[in-house]
Amino acid sequence: MTHKAVFLDRDDTLISDPGYISDPAQVKLLPHVGQSLSMLKKMGYLLVVVTNQSGIARGIVTEQRLEQIHHHLKKLLADEGVYLDAIYYCPYHPDGTVEQYTLESDLRKPQPGMLLKAAEELEIDLSQSWMIGDSYRDVAAGTRAGCRTILLDTPGKPQVREPDDPEPDKRAVNLREAVNILRMFEFQQKAQAARSMRQQAEAQTTEPEKPEPETPTPQPPSEPKATPTDSTEQSVSPTADEQSETPRPQPMPAETPTTEDKPRTFTQPPETQPGPLPQRPTPDTTQDVKSIHEPKPEIPSSDKTHQLLEEILHRVKIKHRYDQYSEFSVFMLLAWLVQVLAVFSLVVSIWFGLDADRGVDSVQTMIGYAVALQLLVIALLLMHDKSR
Ligand SMILES: [Mg+2]
Repeated sequence: MTHKAVFLDRDDTLISDPGYISDPAQVKLLPHVGQSLSMLKKMGYLLVVVTNQSGIARGIVTEQRLEQIHHHLKKLLADEGVYLDAIYYCPYHPDGTVEQYTLESDLRKPQPGMLLKAAEELEIDLSQSWMIGDSYRDVAAGTRAGCRTILLDTPGKPQVREPDDPEPDKRAVNLREAVNILRMFEFQQKAQAARSMRQQAEAQTTEPEKPEPETPTPQPPSEPKATPTDSTEQSVSPTADEQSETPRPQPMPAETPTTEDKPRTFTQPPETQPGPLPQRPTPDTTQDVKSIHEPKPEIPSSDKTHQLLEEILHRVKIKHRYDQYSEFSVFMLLAWLVQVLAVFSLVVSIWFGLDADRGVDSVQTMIGYAVALQLLVIALLLMHDKSR
């Protein structure tokens, strides 16, 4: 029995990346990670972290230290009720300083070595699995392994894409949106399967009617006698046959690409990556990507402003999605409520100031309330930022 899995990059996907993490105390989970991984577990996915750790080859961190860092990561996740199935790391880098680890390795992303190794050891069906990461190296590794891929395109961190990098199947602003994409994908898959089953059932109920007209047709033996004699009838009968037969072959090429595209995207080797990825979900995303990454050859100088505006628009959209998926905070809610009270106090103080019957003391009191409430708003916003 094989399992489906979600392969996860570590830095800037699960935890924040301050550079080379060399101390367990530096491990900070990103927002929504525990909740998102928990949802993936409920969906039946194995959770496998695959991470390049060139810091070992560079002498910044030892394997023993890395074990401690990953132990702390597991503990943080366990505190949120989530357990990883495995963590694979690649300690190698060709430009390392530690001789033992200074080499090229198929384990190092964008090569798919870690995913393939995990698939073998954990009995993972790669065609049913996903790779989620924040760089095109993750996308390339996932695609080469035969997985579907999601690129985390976070606002303020444009992705550097090399010409050979494959397109991701999907894009998300954070892990939470990525999980939503997976849920939607599975829902669509189930709906499509149910639809095809219904169509098959309908076809089976209509098929019994077809044999009836076919049974009376054993008469054709008389027709063959005519076909050899008349050359004109030969030309007619083939076209009649073609009319009855061609409708079958014609839909096949139109249908088979759509049904077979999905398996192909899983199994195609990296050389054929450009084929599958644009076929399915990317009509919209590829346009976005091209507008960001591939317009260089097309740009006349006068279009640079237009390109810049398009990129700004794209980033604004990503930011909007990021805010949409940002975690709800009680501090933020309280800040909004207190802000309303602060404005109300200010308005009342102005009203008191305009009213001749009110004394100066009452005006000053209301202004004092407004200032105090505004300070409270600032404090709540700071607490909100700190809790993220
Ligand atoms: Mg990363």
